[in-house]
Amino acid sequence: MIFKVLTLFPEMIESVMNTGIIGRALKEGKIGLKTYNIRDFADNNRAQVDDYPYGGGAGQVIMAEPVYRCYQSAVYDSYSTKRRCVYLSPAGRKFDQRMAKEFSHEDEIIFLCGHYEGVDERVLEEIVTDYVSAGDYILTGGELPALTMIDAISRLLPGVLGNDSSPDIETFYRDLLEYPQYSRPEIWRGKQVPSVLLSGSHANIEKHRLAESIVRTREKRPDLYEKYERKTDLIDKMKRARVQNIPASQALLFSDSEILYQNDDVYMIKDHDNKKVFAGCFEKKGISNSLKDSEEFRNLLLSCVGKRDEVYLLNLPETFAGDYFENLVMITFTERNPVSSARVRDHGETGQLLRKKISESLSQGRTFYEFVPFSDDLTISTAVSIGLYSSPVIKINV
Ligand code: SAM
Repeated sequence: MIFKVLTLFPEMIESVMNTGIIGRALKEGKIGLKTYNIRDFADNNRAQVDDYPYGGGAGQVIMAEPVYRCYQSAVYDSYSTKRRCVYLSPAGRKFDQRMAKEFSHEDEIIFLCGHYEGVDERVLEEIVTDYVSAGDYILTGGELPALTMIDAISRLLPGVLGNDSSPDIETFYRDLLEYPQYSRPEIWRGKQVPSVLLSGSHANIEKHRLAESIVRTREKRPDLYEKYERKTDLIDKMKRARVQNIPASQALLFSDSEILYQNDDVYMIKDHDNKKVFAGCFEKKGISNSLKDSEEFRNLLLSCVGKRDEVYLLNLPETFAGDYFENLVMITFTERNPVSSARVRDHGETGQLLRKKISESLSQGRTFYEFVPFSDDLTISTAVSIGLYSSPVIKINV
């Protein structure tokens, strides 16, 4: 990942970036940094980059041309064709851990740091892909928010933190704040470390830490706790209805996952990597009539399929999909229904018939959706051998 920062104060960025864990990552080449001084791109001899705002008002505005030239220099100076340009602005989307994760998948990010009263709107319209805010307060410049973002994104990249620390199990993982941490000595000014932490029992320590996290989150961040509670309630409800799906429950444990929809009959979850959507039903026998009437669920499902998300229908009968997707033949291979997968790869009469049906449908140009929540080489290779992978809109889920 390479970070490029367009700023009037490159030394501010460089001095922070060259220290601590981020400094080490920079030296080791785990991340890259380039700064560009907007002033170097001024189109006048006085290196002036700001001017009075049209229409009057307090302060100065950074002019469009120096920013544009500076941006172009950062773009030319690159092998990557795919990049995002972030303008740090109090009017932007508020930065959070989810956004840090989203940005950590990019190859290159350009940060534009404003100063004075901001930047001429016309150049922002031209170059900016994302407006990001550090929070609801006004700073003198965009450098500190840019540094905050770079720090939070960098520590999610491979090798930036040492092997012994994992960004996956700290605050915000599971929508819970981190439990309290203790180090030596065992007793400090009369205060004792909780004895369970010295017990050596990994299971008890885990239990204790989870309980502490829950108490803390409930007290300090009721908003976060509400999210956590909704998700654990959903997992409990699946368990009680005996329709628990392990990948769906696991997806729910991550803070970035989202309950897209839930009512008494059904639920829809988007996983933490924003790739998979689990749409399930609490009724063991499958979908109820009330669900068929649920416009919202139906539209959501259609939009997920439209966006080419990997959609897993859990405990929903084949007829359900038929109701919603024209021209659809659905084959379900689910953990709960191993008979279906056995049927497709069956070498006897049933398997032959089914494969024939699939081939015929394919030759008629019909669309297949296949749901394979659990990877199974034999099932996959069978699917390949009968041509499922070459069908037009197919989404194979593994
Ligand atoms: N006049 C602007 C307004 O009212 O929105 C504020 C300009 S501010 C003094 C100067 C620059 O600091 C902005 O252009 C922006 O780049 C940066 N900045 C200030 N507060 C920020 C925040 N909360 N998040 C991100 N950037 C901020």
